[in-house]
Amino acid sequence: LTSGLEAAWSKVKGEELLTKENIVEPMRDIRRALLEADVSLPVVRRFVQAVTDQAVGLGVIRGVRPDQQLVKIVHDELVKLMGGEFSELVFAKSGPTVILLAGLQGVGKTTVCAKLANYLKKQGKSCMLVAGDVYRPAAIDQLAILGKQVDVPVYTAGTDVKPSEIARQGLEEAKKKNIDVVVVDTAGRLQINKSMMDELKEVKQVLNPTEILLVVDAMTGQEAAALVTTFNLEIGITGAILSKLDGDSRGGAALSVKEVSGKPIKLVGRGERMEDLEPFYPDRMAGRILGMGDVLSFVEKSKEVMQQEDAEELQKKIMSAKFDFNDFLKQTRSVARMGSVSRVIGMIPGMAKVTPAQIRDAEKNLQITEAMIEAMTPEEREKPELLAESPERRKRVAQDSGKTEQQVSQLVAQIFQMRVRMKNLLGVMEGGSMPALSN
Ligand code: GDP
Ligand code: MG
Repeated sequence: LTSGLEAAWSKVKGEELLTKENIVEPMRDIRRALLEADVSLPVVRRFVQAVTDQAVGLGVIRGVRPDQQLVKIVHDELVKLMGGEFSELVFAKSGPTVILLAGLQGVGKTTVCAKLANYLKKQGKSCMLVAGDVYRPAAIDQLAILGKQVDVPVYTAGTDVKPSEIARQGLEEAKKKNIDVVVVDTAGRLQINKSMMDELKEVKQVLNPTEILLVVDAMTGQEAAALVTTFNLEIGITGAILSKLDGDSRGGAALSVKEVSGKPIKLVGRGERMEDLEPFYPDRMAGRILGMGDVLSFVEKSKEVMQQEDAEELQKKIMSAKFDFNDFLKQTRSVARMGSVSRVIGMIPGMAKVTPAQIRDAEKNLQITEAMIEAMTPEEREKPELLAESPERRKRVAQDSGKTEQQVSQLVAQIFQMRVRMKNLLGVMEGGSMPALSN
């Protein structure tokens, strides 16, 4: 999707102004890119029309190139397409909040239960899980194990009790224990069928849930939007959770769900670990799709590990392209602490697509990088130019760190590349307001 859109920008780069004529080609690229990303045709049509309408007759804005204008329009339309605002989870005014999870088999419901409990616990809420998938004993064990992992009680009643009865008992138990949020797991099926829907309706009636969230696998593309629509018509859901957004998902699901079903995506799952659940922010998703990386969520993720001032300073530095080796080191170290180089790499501008092999390399490189930066003087760390200009300095760093001069040169080149990327990003964002602040 990203590369398809890049082709679109490049076609208007040299133009003075967006016109009906010169926008035809880029719009064709955008259309193709969206279709390839598995966005459904009616959605693509409406999208292309909306972008075209806005682009033509926009006129010249001082200091903004037409390709930047187009990026901005597409970004804002993508945000709108995905529901505009971030949709927060709703909590009950009194008594436990009940979150009922639904979805086909294997989409990640049981995993989401535990992830959600982990996520809510961090917000200071007490949670309980209810094992409502009674068809396989393994499903109950799985929830019990995951519950233990995130240190949250799991209510089970075996496989002989009806799901609605387990739900009722679980809720009662939660009330007794003054639990804030009860997350109820249910059984999926390979396909939508009547028994699943009837079962969900019954459970819903017993629980009167605050949230009914449909878990959909992001890999299913535009099918995801159809599923959300069907479940919504059948049982009435309050939103969706897009799981497995870490895989080869083409993003089509994230783009179509709201538009097709009218229900927002509230959360996304980005991996198998308990920490891999995040709120769904349409503006950040749009930023990611446009290949600008996700600086905002990158900075936020770093915040969890770094001191607040550190993160703000880093953000400022990223914006002013003054990123030096101290930041680089701080960054690499916090990345290591996060225990997940892979995810963060995906958020750095221009580094969107990485393979597992590249991730392993990155982890290995971390130690090498640290050794080299530690061998630099404080001055050299602040002014990478010193190393760029002086082979003697690079040689000394190489000797002190036990690495080759070539490795040092590469590292120096890398920091300048990062600065350029950040500057480019800033250039795009200076066209009009910052994308994240629009709407
Ligand atoms: P359920 O049948 O809907 O309850 O699905 P499960 O929770 O049992 O998950 C099915 C499989 O998908 C398991 O192997 C999970 O580890 C995996 N899984 C769940 N969520 C994610 C995710 O966000 N990313 C990845 N890569 N795998 C996931
Ligand atoms: Mg399950």
